[in-house]
Amino acid sequence: MPAKTGKDYIEGLKKANNNIYIHGERVDDVTEHPAFKNVIKSMANLYDLQYEKPEKMLYTSPTTGDKVGMTFLQPRTVEDLIMRREAMQEWARTSGGMMGRSPDYLNAEVMAMGVNNSLFAEGDPRFAENARNYYEYARENDISLTHTLIHPQVNRAKMQHQQKDANVALHLVEERPDGIIVDGIRLLATQGGITDEILVFPSTVKKAGELDDPYSLAFAIPNNTPGLKFISRESFDYGKNEWDHPLGSRFEEGDAIVSFENVFVPWERVFVCGNSSVCNRTFKETNAVVHMAHQVLAKNIVKTEFVLGVALSMMDAIGIDGFQHVQEKGSEIMLTLETMKSHLYRAEHNAKLDKSGTMTPDFAALDAARNWYPRVYPRLTEIVRILGASGLMGIPTEADFNHAEIGPIIHRGLQGKNLEGRERVQLFRLAWDMTLSAFGSRQTHYEYYFFGDPIRMGMTYFDGYDKEPFKQYVESFLKKSSGVKASN
Ligand SMILES: Cc1cc2nc3c(=O)[nH]c(=O)nc-3n(C[C@H](O)[C@H](O)[C@H](O)COP(=O)(O)OP(=O)(O)OC[C@H]3O[C@@H](n4cnc5c(N)ncnc54)[C@H](O)[C@@H]3O)c2cc1C
Repeated sequence: MPAKTGKDYIEGLKKANNNIYIHGERVDDVTEHPAFKNVIKSMANLYDLQYEKPEKMLYTSPTTGDKVGMTFLQPRTVEDLIMRREAMQEWARTSGGMMGRSPDYLNAEVMAMGVNNSLFAEGDPRFAENARNYYEYARENDISLTHTLIHPQVNRAKMQHQQKDANVALHLVEERPDGIIVDGIRLLATQGGITDEILVFPSTVKKAGELDDPYSLAFAIPNNTPGLKFISRESFDYGKNEWDHPLGSRFEEGDAIVSFENVFVPWERVFVCGNSSVCNRTFKETNAVVHMAHQVLAKNIVKTEFVLGVALSMMDAIGIDGFQHVQEKGSEIMLTLETMKSHLYRAEHNAKLDKSGTMTPDFAALDAARNWYPRVYPRLTEIVRILGASGLMGIPTEADFNHAEIGPIIHRGLQGKNLEGRERVQLFRLAWDMTLSAFGSRQTHYEYYFFGDPIRMGMTYFDGYDKEPFKQYVESFLKKSSGVKASN
């Protein structure tokens, strides 16, 4: 089948009738529900964009000859990598990078695991085959995906098998001739339920020992599989119009707790079954982490451009761009953007073919970027807040501007240096939704945590960094004498 259109995506969700709960109720039709319909429309727009810009967003499937989504491409050259990244950025631009889970994030993951599948064969030769087949299935059917990697936060000081109620977390119940039965809870599926299928994979960061084998699983199943429930958090799309909530009204992806009640997974959908050793190595040895980090960096460059655009427009709007500390803060965002672009250049131009023949970006550059951005993004939003000051609270709604009596008062009273009151408030509402609204606060939380706990990622980064050359450099510097003697 060729790549999806927005209509295909929406019809697929209607037909699937996934088991989603929100605000204490089961959702009848997710595509019509106020908490989900707007982000579903934004997702549909992404799929439509594939046909609006086919030269950029589609390529010819190597197996069927159909036109399939570029973000599924297995890159074989640096040009392929760049082409795939440009498609990713095309999607990111539609939301200013505010949709962390546009489909390309997980498309990159299934591609990498599908082509670098030999690790899975350690558990069973079928599992490697399953990973390859799943990549082709996802690509040929343009499957939209959510994923879940984390056990519930019961007691983080203990391993999973040591928990007081060890079976709360998703675990293997039974192996049957036709598949496995799994039961328990997983966190935290962004876009849970508004996608076609769910990937269950191990954490990218947390490692498990053999006693945690029953929790060490990887598989993919349709989101309407019997026994599967998505329990969504409260929605931050408050049903306001686009003018009032320019981001939350369109890009609120939702996050869901996932409950598996004795769910059946057929063998052909299993990649890891009760094997902590394979799980611990999955993201690294399949290079999935590399291709996902490439997508994240591409998306976050667009996001930083968007934040910079908002900050600069605010400076113009209230005439603060000449102040020294304001320029300094603008430079901080610019330096972040330029640094991220340099990481991307190095990642792409130092790329090498891996053993599967996939052109794989330089992970040193991507690893630096993915460890750095969670630390810097909160600062970017802080800058927008500092620059906006009271302007981020003096933000009447569109209805206020349309009101015959108060509209003219605020239109005049809230004028800016170069904008009328209405236009200035529209800009500041965007800044507010980016940083201070429930939607904006979640963005900051998302950027900090979505790739794993930055503290433990940082510890792994430190451990893995080749430190010897630097220590040796200092040692040889201290040993080498230039013969300078004290002169007094
Ligand atoms: C908005 C958002 C969206 C997300 N979307 C997804 C998704 O789609 N799919 C998915 O699978 N996951 C998702 N996640 C989850 C994300 O992967 C986790 O938040 C992340 O891996 C951290 O794990 P945790 O939340 O369990 O934190 P915890 O591990 O519980 O950590 C909580 C705190 O305790 C500290 N801590 C815990 N254990 C240790 C330790 N051993 N050593 C030192 N410090 C420790 C941490 O540093 C942290 O400060 C999302 C998270 C957020 C916030």
